[in-house]
Amino acid sequence: MTRICILGGGFGGLYTALNLSRLPWAVMPEIILIDKSDRFLFTPFLYELITGEMTEWEIAPTFDELLVNTGIQFVQGLITDIDFEAKQVEVNTRQRSSIGFDRLVMAIGGETPMDLVDGAEEYAIPFRNLNDFHRLNSKLELLEASNRDKIRVCIAGGGSSGVEIACKIADRLQERGRVRLVDRNANILANSTAANRTIAERALSQRGVWTDLNTKVTQLNDGAVTLEYASYSDTLPVDLVLWTVGSSFSRMLKKLPVEHNQRGAIATESTLQVKGYPHVFAIGDLANCVDAQGQTLPATAQVAFQQSQYCAWNIWASLNQEKLVPFNYIHLGEFISLGIDGATASIFGKFSIDGLPAHLMRRVSYLLRMPTFQHQWKLGIHWLTKPLVEILRKSSI
Ligand SMILES: Cc1cc2nc3c(=O)[nH]c(=O)nc-3n(C[C@H](O)[C@H](O)[C@H](O)COP(=O)(O)OP(=O)(O)OC[C@H]3O[C@@H](n4cnc5c(N)ncnc54)[C@H](O)[C@@H]3O)c2cc1C
Repeated sequence: MTRICILGGGFGGLYTALNLSRLPWAVMPEIILIDKSDRFLFTPFLYELITGEMTEWEIAPTFDELLVNTGIQFVQGLITDIDFEAKQVEVNTRQRSSIGFDRLVMAIGGETPMDLVDGAEEYAIPFRNLNDFHRLNSKLELLEASNRDKIRVCIAGGGSSGVEIACKIADRLQERGRVRLVDRNANILANSTAANRTIAERALSQRGVWTDLNTKVTQLNDGAVTLEYASYSDTLPVDLVLWTVGSSFSRMLKKLPVEHNQRGAIATESTLQVKGYPHVFAIGDLANCVDAQGQTLPATAQVAFQQSQYCAWNIWASLNQEKLVPFNYIHLGEFISLGIDGATASIFGKFSIDGLPAHLMRRVSYLLRMPTFQHQWKLGIHWLTKPLVEILRKSSI
């Protein structure tokens, strides 16, 4: 039986597996999804855990739950090597095992580099997955339980991640928080529209978040961060540092015998096939794909999600002697959460809305992007009934 192996169960991998399982196969191939985690993570909602607006089951359903009745097999394990010639993947499950494939999808995403400045590895927390959230939350709980008057938080990186974290932490800590956002550029949100930037700047200032622009974090120590502005350097006391700067790839990906770009992303054809290996596809953050219109694509869930549809189709086509189609990216816009119940939304990059309408639009759009109808339904009912349950709970106290 033909075997399709999918490495990584994130926006690229999980959605490719689900799309493949829904295609019209004469004989259904074996579809194996491999991930080191037991659950999918809907990263755009990771910020909502900081403020308790959502809980883990809402944003991180298990693969077992999502894949029921799909025919997709799930293997939990760390992928340690890929042999393109022998068509085998090495996976550390309970024992080390090799899994063969006829078609391979590489979608294990990127990492946050913690070696860009001295002390970041020891003293800063990245914000990419549930483990990072747990580290952040434990630290915040300790600080909140302490008798200190103010809690000083520094966030390195004024991209969307830094801005979203800053607003959520400021809302969580309220008047005890002293939140500082540091970016080496002259503006926050360098890749966003001007309108989204203005709305975000207002949200930060309303929450009393300091924004240090044209400023670099140059060193971290226990309880201190060193900032460099022009030729001045200053070391400030700090209780918590979050690191959102840069992106990199695992050592395993870097040493694969394929073409990488300067950042280390894997070069693909516009059909999403890895250059030189037509039976291997690479999508999501780890891929350096130039689409059919020659656009170089950002590392976003939106790109990975759209690629998953093309990737599934092209695998089907390659196994059914049909023509493969080039990936064509359509930029639908951008959502940025701005504190509790706040957001900004740019629609097709053309106009922006903010406040509650943007927050509701973000919620509904992301609900519709959840991987299965069952999870969408469960979440939708939960969100609709939550205010009522809250009222009943309060009135019974
Ligand atoms: C906090 C946060 C918020 C974000 N918000 C947005 C947003 O609002 N909009 C947007 O478009 N994008 C957003 N992004 C970016 C988006 O999450 C990524 O672009 C997207 O997830 C990329 O999909 P992917 O499939 O390439 O990788 P991922 O979704 O990261 O999935 C990779 C999977 O591979 C697994 N894996 C990694 N290494 C191994 C290994 N060696 N062995 C086994 N399994 C492995 C991981 O466990 C993971 O499940 C956000 C990212 C973060 C971190």
